[in-house]
Amino acid sequence: MDLTDILATVHRDMQAHLGRGRVADYIPALARVDPKHFGIALITCHGQHAAAGDSAIPFSIQSVSKLFTLTLALEKHGGKLWKRVGHESSGSSFNSIVQLEQEQGIPRNPLINAGALVVTDALLESGAPANLITHITAFMQQLADDPSISVDPEVATSEGETGFRNASLANFLRAYNNLHSPVADVLQVYFNQCALRMNCRQLARAGLFLANAGIDPLNHTHITTPMRARRLNALMMTCGHYDASGDVAFRVGLPGKSGVGGGILAIAPGRASIAVWSPGLNPAGNSLVGQMALERLAALTGWSVF
Ligand code: GLU
Repeated sequence: MDLTDILATVHRDMQAHLGRGRVADYIPALARVDPKHFGIALITCHGQHAAAGDSAIPFSIQSVSKLFTLTLALEKHGGKLWKRVGHESSGSSFNSIVQLEQEQGIPRNPLINAGALVVTDALLESGAPANLITHITAFMQQLADDPSISVDPEVATSEGETGFRNASLANFLRAYNNLHSPVADVLQVYFNQCALRMNCRQLARAGLFLANAGIDPLNHTHITTPMRARRLNALMMTCGHYDASGDVAFRVGLPGKSGVGGGILAIAPGRASIAVWSPGLNPAGNSLVGQMALERLAALTGWSVF
């Protein structure tokens, strides 16, 4: 089967499941999204594209953005970043406050909310939040090779009005001196990066450097070093799906990062970058149908890092 046929098969096999799961209603602007959407797209390291379903409809990438801000922060700070944030699976929910207190303000990893707030702070370094939001958006436009990518202001505002838990985490980090910029500035950037709107095709294209040792294989741009790309993939595998990362490694076997908008970016190293979107979430906060689709895709292609 060629890749277009494989995605068509995955799409067809998901029809019976569309609408399952619960949309993330703790962010009011996300609660309005129709849970029946399903899109999938992939791009190979040789530039071959395939897509099915709602692959051209934009969605809120939410926590998938954590991967890209981490890429930027590692380029900026190198290994020093690991003094402020760990690289171990959390084993608890993505917004746990208890764990942050137990570990004295050093978040377990950069893909949970507390860790992502530290990463955003490391990029901000007392600069203006608006400039960093522009910089992150430009980075996504560069990676996706698409200048139309932007932040959805309604989602960013919605989260700003209701993100009390993230505000708690940020204040906690600040109390432990692991947040250096003003809490409000860090939250402003964080809510805006989460509110980036992309479709599956754009997201798959943006992740392609992770399938090719840190170099964009289509235009040969250096995005990060081979070692960092390897480590980003390792973090996606061990921490990319909240407290269900082990389950996803078991079922899918590819590094991935999910977001509560229902998007998942998965990487088949040396082969392809894959993005899937379906808004209904499973109890762990991962796209229910999206995860099933990746499991099916991995079975049909034989792609796995194991
Ligand atoms: N903006 C969301 C939050 O901080 C992101 C959560 C997620 O996608 O995991 O709650």
